[in-house]
Amino acid sequence: MQENKHIKALSREREQEISELAEFIAEEYSTVDYISPEKIAEANQITFSYGDYGDAFDGMLEHRFSKFHIYCNLNRINRIDSPRARFTFCHELGHYYIDEHRQSLESGKVPAHPSRCEYESGNIVEREADYFASNLLMPTKRFLQFAKKVKIGFEGIHKIANNFGVSIISASIRYCSSNIASCAIIKWNVDGYAWKWLSAKTYKAQYRKTIEFQNNLPIDSPTARALRGENSSEKGFFEAGTTASSWFPYIKQGSHKDIIFIEQAISLGRFGVLTFLYPESGNYDFEGNIL
Ligand SMILES: [Zn+2]
Repeated sequence: MQENKHIKALSREREQEISELAEFIAEEYSTVDYISPEKIAEANQITFSYGDYGDAFDGMLEHRFSKFHIYCNLNRINRIDSPRARFTFCHELGHYYIDEHRQSLESGKVPAHPSRCEYESGNIVEREADYFASNLLMPTKRFLQFAKKVKIGFEGIHKIANNFGVSIISASIRYCSSNIASCAIIKWNVDGYAWKWLSAKTYKAQYRKTIEFQNNLPIDSPTARALRGENSSEKGFFEAGTTASSWFPYIKQGSHKDIIFIEQAISLGRFGVLTFLYPESGNYDFEGNIL
């Protein structure tokens, strides 16, 4: 469940439709968890190229002379096998596989549009392609099977990211929205709060509004330390215990809902910092009582 005033969420029905489509394609073209977007393109006679196209876009699907071509911008996605490159490629495959997107390109009514991938765009067409990419790289059944076995927090998220060839951000969003566990993730850009994602249980238990100003973070909190660019532990992230009231301003200090949370924070380089929060007890019911 994403909380961001500026980004329009997809309807549940649309999400379901897109995730089923992506899962079907993943099953059809890959027997392993680490899928190859290039193979899927080849099987559909879609050509592709990697090049340095400045800073204008991450990827683009072009339709010319009845043929489709995917451009991936190395200037923005680093290596061709980087998680961001894989996500970008799958995002463009989304524009091909989602009927409405492909048809509008084929009809020539809309020109090829440059894409910004991995949750950087609030545009609904882009969000649909992002959602497709996430579900193609991490199809529901395979994702749940794997994610249920890993430890909650960034240790587990790392394993998911490696297994499916996705970024920490993509793995975290998929984890949080699949409701395997009670948790929340908060993304910070280098200049401040960007967005957050709450698992359904966290939302229902009324842990909703979170700190949105860097200055309100306790000075020694993992998030503040990551934002300051301090060196993290060997694990690659910061971790400490915190309280619900430290992170959720509507939770009264000392109230029964002021439970202990574990706060982890990881630096994403130029993409900022990601905070991962989960109740120390592992779970709570819908009233916020520890289970
Ligand atoms: Zn796009």
